[in-house]
Amino acid sequence: MPYPDPWPAGQRGAVSLTFDDGTPDQLRDGVPRLDARGLQGTFYLPTGGDWQQRLAPWATALATGHELGNHSVGHTCSENFANDPQPRGLESLTLADLEADLLECERRLTALFGPLPAHSFAYPCYQTDVGRGAGRQSYVPLVARHFVAGRGGGEAGFHNHPYHVDLHCVAGLTCQQLSGAEMIGLCERAARQGRWAVLVFHGLQVGRLGTALNEFEELLDYLADQRARLWCAPLATVAGHLREQRAAVGLT
Ligand SMILES: [Zn+2]
Repeated sequence: MPYPDPWPAGQRGAVSLTFDDGTPDQLRDGVPRLDARGLQGTFYLPTGGDWQQRLAPWATALATGHELGNHSVGHTCSENFANDPQPRGLESLTLADLEADLLECERRLTALFGPLPAHSFAYPCYQTDVGRGAGRQSYVPLVARHFVAGRGGGEAGFHNHPYHVDLHCVAGLTCQQLSGAEMIGLCERAARQGRWAVLVFHGLQVGRLGTALNEFEELLDYLADQRARLWCAPLATVAGHLREQRAAVGLT
């Protein structure tokens, strides 16, 4: 038997706009443009360094309905990225190390913003394992214990299936250096497939990981125009909705 249509009435698919690393241009340039169109995104904030000073201004994004998510304190990625002869990356961490880091990030977010609404976690550098070789382990189960959802990276061409995606390892597609037309194409694919497109942004500028602001605006104009057929909502909101739809047909 086919699955019931999982999306709110009239919607053909879903889009979540996710932003990593809490860069100043996301708050300065991204949030006001989302607000102007009545759209909400998910912003993953790492809480290392001068976190109190750096992150306090994000209270304004919380106030206009954006999701603030956990991106760890240390933003630890693979040692394969490091030239340092004594790197301490994910290969050197245990699950207990990582759990302590994620919980400390939660403590800092709560200290800044008070208890946050249900929110998700984004895997730094899209990497989901600790250890190496025979000792390598996924930390997706750890994320599942503490968060309503988790966002990883993804394979181009495959948006998230509403009934099949692991809600603690939702696939994200990077929008670095994409044009407005390319990003709109990804959203249209979600509408055509009845799936959930999770777009990933870093800086809103031209750069290695960046997406140019004029291209981002073209995407936002499109999403505002298409709101009756394409549901644009924060990651934790869509994940919570899908959890209810899945429970109704006996799936987790
Ligand atoms: Zn990051």
